[in-house]
Amino acid sequence: MIPLHIIKTICKTFDITPDQIMEYPASPVKVEQGQLLMCKVKGVKNILAECAGDLFYELDGTVLSESLKLCPLTHQNRLVLNKYLPYTRPIAFGTQVATFGTGDRLGLASPAHIRSVKNSDAKPILAQQSKRELELTGRNYAQVLDDACFAVFQEGYLSGFGADGDHLKNAADIRDALACGYTMITLDCSKKIDNTASQLSADELSSVYQRLPAAYRARIEGAYLEKGAVKKFRIVENEYSFTEEELFRCALVYRGAIDFAGEIYRDLLTGAEQPVDFELSIDETESVTTVQAHLFTAMELIHQNIRITSLAPKFIGEFQKGIDYIGDIGIFEAQLARHAAIASHFGYKLSIHSGSDKFSVFPLIGKYTGGLLHLKTSGTSWLEAIGTIAACNPTLYRHIHECALAHFEEARRFYHVSADLSQIADLDHMEDDGLVKYLENDHSRQLLHITYGFILRDHSLKSEIYKTLEMYDEHFAQRLISHMDHHLVEIGLK
Ligand code: ZN
Repeated sequence: MIPLHIIKTICKTFDITPDQIMEYPASPVKVEQGQLLMCKVKGVKNILAECAGDLFYELDGTVLSESLKLCPLTHQNRLVLNKYLPYTRPIAFGTQVATFGTGDRLGLASPAHIRSVKNSDAKPILAQQSKRELELTGRNYAQVLDDACFAVFQEGYLSGFGADGDHLKNAADIRDALACGYTMITLDCSKKIDNTASQLSADELSSVYQRLPAAYRARIEGAYLEKGAVKKFRIVENEYSFTEEELFRCALVYRGAIDFAGEIYRDLLTGAEQPVDFELSIDETESVTTVQAHLFTAMELIHQNIRITSLAPKFIGEFQKGIDYIGDIGIFEAQLARHAAIASHFGYKLSIHSGSDKFSVFPLIGKYTGGLLHLKTSGTSWLEAIGTIAACNPTLYRHIHECALAHFEEARRFYHVSADLSQIADLDHMEDDGLVKYLENDHSRQLLHITYGFILRDHSLKSEIYKTLEMYDEHFAQRLISHMDHHLVEIGLK
């Protein structure tokens, strides 16, 4: 509790009443000669510093007395928190604990994500935005990390969190993310994966393969094929082998991606200032990652001494944004079992992308990974935000819905979704209390999910969205918590 005399000082300084000050009860932390806590003053979050010494001087804010300062949530103040409160700095987690990439497009969802994850067996990767998401939401790496760090401070969460430079495709972006203090890099190798090779006939394949450097060919043929007999690779109870054709195909499709991962790893990650979790993403491509291609990739990574923390294959079936798994669950299970066994055999975690809302396959994912996995649930907190607005501010919801409809065709060029607008009930005939049902229909979920960039580009919509979510922050938080809990429970992590 903020002592009465401090409340009085704040009220006097800003000419407000005590009910305009709200303390975040989990935030207070003892520091040398005092304490820091988070409070809302007239609807705006601040750090209240009651202390002395360097910390007091380094924090920038309004001086209320000799040892009392009210400090805004600026980037500079975040760096000061990081310096004095190590738990507000992101860390890397390695391979021995489950991690949950929560993602927070608006910068408002992390406190609730922390409240959900803190009593589970998973650790949160709170900052997790791809370049595309940053562009569409008008944020940058530093801001995303600022929001995550302040959320950790607000919740008094001491157990560690990560920051993921998500789906990065080039060295410059990775350098930027590392310089900002990110502790996980998800390297998106999609552009280096040559899908044309998977379409070639056996004859064409062989001739294209012969163009690869002779030394490379000799090495992989020695490693994966055996003259006269078949070379067998045993992973748990399964044996794998490569025919010439299979090996040629793996080499042609994945060689570029593996070499690229090697360059990034050696040039940027091994010498990074902070420990970094390295995820290899081969999921954003057209072809499904076969078990054999995964095995080839795993062994080639070892050959190049590349240590990854997690690998995201492209699974069979469809992992579309914001909705459940689409596909044959039996076939998925058989492949998942083998992918998980390979990952565990080679000492990294299997990573599931577009992992939100895949409730029908979560129990299988939990079972075969033994709970050691990385899951990215990016974007789904946006839908919880829209659900909050549908329930609490129907007029705003209607504007959002109209904006989403107007931009759906443009937005779907960036996302693979199967939404069919004719399956979405007409907005004009929907009563206010029925609006939340749009969040229960797969078609409207996807409509609202992928158009966020267009919705946020409209300045008045954007500021109304923030206002509404801040006004109904507890409603929003409860939705986020129950949604995230549902994920954790189904996977078996809570
Ligand atoms: Zn992905």
